[in-house]
Amino acid sequence: MRRAPGRLVLVGHPVAHSLSPALQNAALRYAGLPIRYEAIDVKPDKLGSAVQRLVAARAAGNVTIPHKEAMARHCSRLDPVAERVNAVNAFRVADDGVLEGTNTDVGGFDALAREAGALRTGTHVALLGAGGSAAAVLAAVERWSGATVSLFNRTTERAASLAARFPIVKAVMPTAADAVNGASVVVNATSLGLHPEDDLPVAISSLRPGAVVLDLVYRPRETAWVKAARERGHPAVDGLCMLLEQGALAFEWWLGIAAPRDVMREALMSAVHA
Ligand code: NAP
Repeated sequence: MRRAPGRLVLVGHPVAHSLSPALQNAALRYAGLPIRYEAIDVKPDKLGSAVQRLVAARAAGNVTIPHKEAMARHCSRLDPVAERVNAVNAFRVADDGVLEGTNTDVGGFDALAREAGALRTGTHVALLGAGGSAAAVLAAVERWSGATVSLFNRTTERAASLAARFPIVKAVMPTAADAVNGASVVVNATSLGLHPEDDLPVAISSLRPGAVVLDLVYRPRETAWVKAARERGHPAVDGLCMLLEQGALAFEWWLGIAAPRDVMREALMSAVHA
């Protein structure tokens, strides 16, 4: 077990909607640790001063939108995963006082893919989106044996610069329908689906029969895209599983003890359906 951090926080803007406090506080209570995980709303221009205060308090925690890339620049030490993604979603202060960052979204996405049975040799993945979470998906997929990726993003320049960092991306496609053509796994890493009125990231009718659908987005029930995919017979999983696993991996990294995943899953399900 590591020395307990002085504070455990989620840094984001906005953060009020986050399910992470419910997830982490259930785990902390179960482990009998007298520390609470709190969400703090930090505007982008205040991140530097907030980081200084957190380091002084020997805090650890998570980072969410829009701070993941900026936090990587504030960390003096990145592990290889955070280095590869160029974004940090979990930080801690090491015994020598140095701010360290990692990225547990990568392991979280692997868990999502495993849950859906998407991890096979030679998988062709269509990835929709080119933001921070798309980089985490690519860092996970490049470790799958023989996998290749077709990428689509609304802003093509952003897709091109992500593809330049990840040789596993074989093509940047002009439309989402082009990207999913022939893919055996289709990943939504855009924010489409967060709101009920959103368009689907791509029509399910464009997918090859049996393609596995992985949605990083989650909603109180399933997302509209996952629902549509299941209705057409596709194996489909939404982002709750990834949220759970990235949180469990962060808990283990901060505290050096096994995360009580069943307790965390139960707390997550209660919070999402509340
Ligand atoms: P981000 O860096 O802000 O990227 C957002 C992505 O969504 C970009 O590719 C953006 O395209 C695209 N997008 C936004 N609005 C769009 C629209 N109306 N039409 C088409 N594309 C649109 O965000 P992120 O960190 O990658 O997160 C993306 C999603 O993943 C979020 O919904 C987040 O909640 C979810 N996520 C879930 C987990 C989990 O644990 N389940 C973890 C991380 C993220 P442009 O480049 O064209 O703007």
